[in-house]
Amino acid sequence: MELRVLGCSGGIGGSNRTTAFLLGQHVLIDAGTGVGELNYSELCAIDHVFLSHAHLDHVACLPMLLDTVFSARKAPVTVYGLPETIAVLRQHLFNWHLWPDFSKIPSAEEGILRYQSISLGSTVTLDGVSVSPLPAIHTIPAIGYRLDSPESSLVYSGDTVGGAEFWAAVNAIPRLRGLIIETAFANHEAELAAQAKHLCPATLAHELQGLQCETEVLITHLKPADSGRTLREIRALDSRHSIRPLLQGETIEF
Ligand SMILES: [Zn+2]
Ligand SMILES: [Zn+2]
Repeated sequence: MELRVLGCSGGIGGSNRTTAFLLGQHVLIDAGTGVGELNYSELCAIDHVFLSHAHLDHVACLPMLLDTVFSARKAPVTVYGLPETIAVLRQHLFNWHLWPDFSKIPSAEEGILRYQSISLGSTVTLDGVSVSPLPAIHTIPAIGYRLDSPESSLVYSGDTVGGAEFWAAVNAIPRLRGLIIETAFANHEAELAAQAKHLCPATLAHELQGLQCETEVLITHLKPADSGRTLREIRALDSRHSIRPLLQGETIEF
């Protein structure tokens, strides 16, 4: 299976796109501005969208995705998320004010947008890949995802500060191909990172002590203002793990 990195920045500007991954051809993991990298036929092929949480950098392109593919699709696009995430989308985004309620278009019975609540412990299997939520700790209800192909597994942390539950879940995965984990801020913003419940290199180093297996650690969600500084601080870490930045446009096979 392939995971294509459409966006993995913590902001925009220049070539920076916010979080979105294409899993195979029909599944999105988060729907940040990276979704705009897909061409029209690729957009029309999206059947499922798994959201880590409701923050805009992870859902920004979902409204325009639905609007763009609406006339070309017969089947709905299923959007998966925590019940709290779906409640935010219903109340604040697809509410007829900010954007039309696509769950009721073209009709209340057969909307192009179909919501599907998921929670820790649930697994959705699509095209031979299993997608399972992982615990995340953020300022609003959030999850990461575990992706299992027949060969191996990938983990995407979502926005989080880590935590023992997350590492216990990660360490239980037998063939972990890679760990995509956020480090939004540089160390001089450690206080802001703690308030915003994001990682900085110092807290990343602490959290990685919980990772027991050998795997590639792929850093995502760097804030553009400090991305160079943050990466230098990560490279300077005394870690036993192989750590590198996740690259927009790369495809990870697993
Ligand atoms: Zn967030
Ligand atoms: Zn974010």
